[in-house]
Amino acid sequence: MILEPLFPDYYIENVYQLPLEELKSRGIRGLIFDIDNTIAPFDVADPDEKLMDFFMHLQEEGFRLGILSNNNKKRVQHFNRKLKLLAIHKADKPLPFKVKSGLKKLSLTPETSALVGDQVFTDVLCGHMAGMTAIMVAPICERDQLVTKVKRGLEKQVLKVYFRKNTK
Ligand SMILES: [Mg+2]
Repeated sequence: MILEPLFPDYYIENVYQLPLEELKSRGIRGLIFDIDNTIAPFDVADPDEKLMDFFMHLQEEGFRLGILSNNNKKRVQHFNRKLKLLAIHKADKPLPFKVKSGLKKLSLTPETSALVGDQVFTDVLCGHMAGMTAIMVAPICERDQLVTKVKRGLEKQVLKVYFRKNTK
């Protein structure tokens, strides 16, 4: 079906609900996170304590982590000051090239990695174009950048079909 690349492989309420054991059993070794409205509100500059602890936990569980955003260098580098992860700014999502070169730097392959994000047309599509597992989270907050707001309308339509399919 034509919408297939837009359907996430998993849909969860927030990153803390990632099905870690299942992902591991499917061979997923790397998790690449979108920043804005996935792991922090788009207008909050730093990761909070809960996220820091969670990322620590993920690493102890053996996952290799990266963050990527279409946002600018200043936003991404500042956000990454404490996390100190592989961080990709101006990621050109949904194009797959920058995320794929990020995976290489982490010695990961698309088949062993998942992209976690809050947008269908940006994150889910990017993950699938790169050959990765795509995990969608509900956006953290209603506050959104204007461009994103426009996309959300279309996104709702896609998700409607997705949920209809997945609740049968
Ligand atoms: Mg986002």
